[in-house]
Amino acid sequence: MNARRQTLRILALSPLVLYSGVALPARQIPPVEQLKAGYRRRLTEKLAGNVVPYIDIESSCNPGQLDIDGVARAMDELDIGLMALSADVGGGQFERGIRYDALASRLMAKYPDRFIPVGNGGVPPAWTRDTGAFLTAYEQDVNDGNCLLMGEFEFRHYPSPRQVQRGANRDETVPIDGETGHRVFHLSEASGLAFQIHYEIEDGLLPPLEKMLAQYPKAKVIWCHLAQVRYLERAPSYSPAYVEGLIGKFPNLYFETAFGGSNSVYPLSGQRHARVWASNGTIRKDWLDLLVAYPQRFLAALDLGGDRMHRIREWDQNLRTFLRQLPRDTQHQIAYRSAWKLLFGEEFS
Ligand SMILES: [Zn+2]
Repeated sequence: MNARRQTLRILALSPLVLYSGVALPARQIPPVEQLKAGYRRRLTEKLAGNVVPYIDIESSCNPGQLDIDGVARAMDELDIGLMALSADVGGGQFERGIRYDALASRLMAKYPDRFIPVGNGGVPPAWTRDTGAFLTAYEQDVNDGNCLLMGEFEFRHYPSPRQVQRGANRDETVPIDGETGHRVFHLSEASGLAFQIHYEIEDGLLPPLEKMLAQYPKAKVIWCHLAQVRYLERAPSYSPAYVEGLIGKFPNLYFETAFGGSNSVYPLSGQRHARVWASNGTIRKDWLDLLVAYPQRFLAALDLGGDRMHRIREWDQNLRTFLRQLPRDTQHQIAYRSAWKLLFGEEFS
């Protein structure tokens, strides 16, 4: 049996499908049109005030430690438009049997004009130690209509710089073309929702990703951290020309632009891993040309996380330093227009 058919068989046997016809409606978020009206109002107000708001398409948090009011206040102070803030189920929750957190509904209850309802991040332990239960809960939540977006799913994740500092050298691999990958790509195709992947840039990892993109042409994939290459020697094929080739081949592939500043060094390789920057701190011409040529494929993102939520001002400044260097139209497109189109299938107006 090929992997796709196997995945479909698993889906057919899952409680989601068995009970979807008889389950009570479990939708917990406002209707999309209502959300959109609030989002549009907020972005329009900021534009009228002559600031460029952005849609942070990818941030995550520890749902048990999140100060929702504090984040909302910071968003107002910093003129952040909208935030797709996902929950990462933590170790404590996992030990208590929790596999999926309904953070999105709590965010919607308080600040439906600021937050985008997004499903959980695919992170350990639930993602790797109880994958089946995690994905079944995920499929249920998507099926109930509680998400406008999914992820970030960690298919290949080196230890982050902050994990290295803490001595937590976790190193994750979930084959993107394995059973789990097929289930996620299928869910995107079936639901029409985009999902985010964390996928380190290595030559050996490119063919399986391309294979999946070709096999699931309707899956909408946001590859996080454009040009964040931790080890240059592992990715000789990756370049603006390579990314342009992907853009040409895969109409539903997007890239988010959360990466370190020009002086950020990945501690395990000692290399400046945000490759978009030239040594003088400006965007390299080849990357800039690509961003200007295909701005609708690139999305603004903060990449806040549970361990850096209190540093939102710093992360906001990093993102704005990048956005400010783009020509005006490109800046507006990447800051919020691309995300709007991806989420709602129409131009922002
Ligand atoms: Zn990531």
